[in-house]
Amino acid sequence: MLLRNKVAVITGSSRGIGAATAVKLAEHGSNIVINYNNDIDGAKETAEKIRKLGQKTLIVQADVSDPDQAKKLIKKSVSEFNKIDILINNAGITKDGLLLRMKEKDFNAVIDINLKGTFNCTKNVIRYMMKQNGGKIVNLSSVVGLMGNPGQANYAASKAGIIGFSKSIAKEVSKRGININVVAPGYIQTDMTEELAQKVKDKMLENIPLNRFGQPEDVANVILFLVSPLANYVNGQVINIDGGMLM
Ligand code: NAP
Repeated sequence: MLLRNKVAVITGSSRGIGAATAVKLAEHGSNIVINYNNDIDGAKETAEKIRKLGQKTLIVQADVSDPDQAKKLIKKSVSEFNKIDILINNAGITKDGLLLRMKEKDFNAVIDINLKGTFNCTKNVIRYMMKQNGGKIVNLSSVVGLMGNPGQANYAASKAGIIGFSKSIAKEVSKRGININVVAPGYIQTDMTEELAQKVKDKMLENIPLNRFGQPEDVANVILFLVSPLANYVNGQVINIDGGMLM
């Protein structure tokens, strides 16, 4: 039980990596605020798994790209649990396309949800963590933010932005006992990657030394470590979780 009686807010925890992280943190004693945008059934499914583990849970619908909704998410979390120990900025989308064909609205949507959503939630949570003199934040980047990928200029920009954002915030607030780290997953099998063409998947697999795609739990395990006391001296880092794809 690494996280007994902690309270974790996990954005985009209705499915995929967010849902696996919610369950993993609950297995270690944390109460969980589940956030979703559209998938209420997925959010309820995650909540049910957490309740079965004996932890408390609250479901909050909020589009993290909207500052008012992000504020509501954090306010509701604090009024339910009186504190927030952990924030996982996980909500994310892709809207792929080569630059010459990429529409401005698709560029903006990805930046707004992935990068501005991370800003919106972090900004609202940080004041509580500063008052508490402690907290752990993990932000979801991607190997694509580190190495680029054709057809993903918007996504790569958002994920690279998250790294610069996180390191800057770490330098601003870590004196108050707040650790901020980033995980950069490679190819993880979720709805997000399911839509890729088979030949793209085959090509990716050739570049993964461990010769398998990652599972949401592979990412959840590293996030658990980063938000636990085991990682109290890990701060401002980017941890790749990609089977060796980028090294
Ligand atoms: P996913 O299965 O597509 O799930 C995305 C989650 O984000 C869903 O819970 C979704 O909620 C939520 N979400 C989307 N837009 C939102 C918004 N505006 N406000 C609140 N929640 C929103 O994706 P995933 O693969 O688990 O990815 C999770 C994170 O890991 C993302 O940041 C992604 O970029 C990153 N990542 C994934 C991979 C990968 O290979 N899968 C690799 C590197 C990084 P609804 O269901 O309600 O829409």
